[in-house]
Amino acid sequence: MPAGAAPAGIGALPAHFEFNAPAAWRAIDFISDLHLSAEMPLTFAAWAAHLRHTPADAVFMLGDLFEVWVGDDARDCPFERSAMDVMAEAASHRQLAFMVGNRDFLLGHAMLRASGLIGLPDPTLLVAWGQRVLLSHGDALCLDDAPYQAFRQMVRSDAWQARFLARPLPERQQLAAEMRRASAGRQRFDGEAGVDADIAEAVRWMHASGAAELVHGHTHRPASHALAPGFKRHVLGDWDRDDAARPRGEVLRLTRDGFQRLPPADG
Ligand code: MN
Repeated sequence: MPAGAAPAGIGALPAHFEFNAPAAWRAIDFISDLHLSAEMPLTFAAWAAHLRHTPADAVFMLGDLFEVWVGDDARDCPFERSAMDVMAEAASHRQLAFMVGNRDFLLGHAMLRASGLIGLPDPTLLVAWGQRVLLSHGDALCLDDAPYQAFRQMVRSDAWQARFLARPLPERQQLAAEMRRASAGRQRFDGEAGVDADIAEAVRWMHASGAAELVHGHTHRPASHALAPGFKRHVLGDWDRDDAARPRGEVLRLTRDGFQRLPPADG
């Protein structure tokens, strides 16, 4: 149930959507920033194994699941189809939910439906076992990066998206590949340049939604810490099992007893 309809802009308090976890659920997993692509087979395999084998009732994927998403018509391409098949199979055993990130913000209703995912707006208030947890990808909170926020406002507009999606698929894929080369991987917009969520803004969002805890990704700096008295955040880490020097990827799990960090399930 949407709590309001106002679009989120810089400085405006975003409306939040509320997701009530069924009372029978025992555990909810959170992951983000897997940046899946055909070039990361080990990361893809670890993700697929986790979706298949986790004992959790639900897996919430909070953005940047894909390194790039150029439109739902790409789901018929081999890599995207394999990801869709993994999710559709897992969704027959547990609830899968997806929130867009700054790389896969064009993932839309057609892909959600085909993959058995429920879509979560950013932010979403999760209510589970009496706990109120605000969920966000996190990029909208990085207010210090003014050029990124301007870019974000542009590409999240209906007009920009309609224009982009009207281009032929191969042209969109070509553009995405060029942008990726130009930005030298994920350096520019994904937190590794040092940008962090704005603490005051995060607390404002939490206060407005009555949430004592916040879960977000995007910055690739996994940690849990207090933002202010009564306000705590849990930052998700990115995944990269194909980085031989620093293989990584973890799951944040919420149960009745609170949060814990775990390695992915591997069966
Ligand atoms: Mn991100």
